[in-house]
Amino acid sequence: MATQYEEAKRLLPIIAAAAMSGQHLTYQIAAQKLGRPKNNARTVAQVCDLLDAAAALADVPLLALTTVLTANLRVNPDAWAEVEPEIRSAIINRSQNHTFTKSDISAIGAALERLKGYSNRKAWPYLSTLMPSGERRLRLAGVGTAAYTDAIDDLGTDSPAVTTFTGKRYARDAMVRDAVKERADGRCEYCGELGFKCSNGSRYLECHHIIALADQGADMMTNVIAICPQDHREAHFGERREQIEAEMIAKVNAAEARRMNR
Ligand SMILES: [Zn+2]
Repeated sequence: MATQYEEAKRLLPIIAAAAMSGQHLTYQIAAQKLGRPKNNARTVAQVCDLLDAAAALADVPLLALTTVLTANLRVNPDAWAEVEPEIRSAIINRSQNHTFTKSDISAIGAALERLKGYSNRKAWPYLSTLMPSGERRLRLAGVGTAAYTDAIDDLGTDSPAVTTFTGKRYARDAMVRDAVKERADGRCEYCGELGFKCSNGSRYLECHHIIALADQGADMMTNVIAICPQDHREAHFGERREQIEAEMIAKVNAAEARRMNR
């Protein structure tokens, strides 16, 4: 029996041809084009999911998701069903509004080679080892390409989709972030570790709102701290997060006092 990878390889040019001529396929039609019985729609959906994993790996909008549809021409309702509705809509919209080019298709093909031997169920967890799935989703949704590191800040809130899509995130003062990073001078303001060196020579730190904006935290120097990714995740998810919050407030107040006296 053909593997998902082999089927995906055969299906990619078929889907690409449809997408580039502005047409859709149904899972049944795609099954027939692969020489499978019509009732193989479910298998085809899995092959499409593997192709979408390849697209995600290639950082291209999801080709199969919006090109291969259910019999009543809808996006597969099971696809991305576990994701916040706003994020799911944004992922679908971005893919629908994208004009797929030949270079997109070859990028997906190349990414598929990297997923050789993976089923769709194994491919996504593998992708998560390369980029946390929350960040991947924001990227697929078209958020956080320019503001990529900033998007991480929303991952721990109760309603990341809402804070992301109401535009509040964009209201945050970029000057505050820049000034906080300047105050940190490359070191995590919580643990003091030097951030790793980025390709542009700067030190990597993430800005974190100590009191979340969603909880009416202010977008001010005294509520924003530049920290390492490890501390950032602990601040959001750790069992010590309340204690960390109190410590961060103290550290930031001290840092602000030093900054004022400089
Ligand atoms: Zn740290």
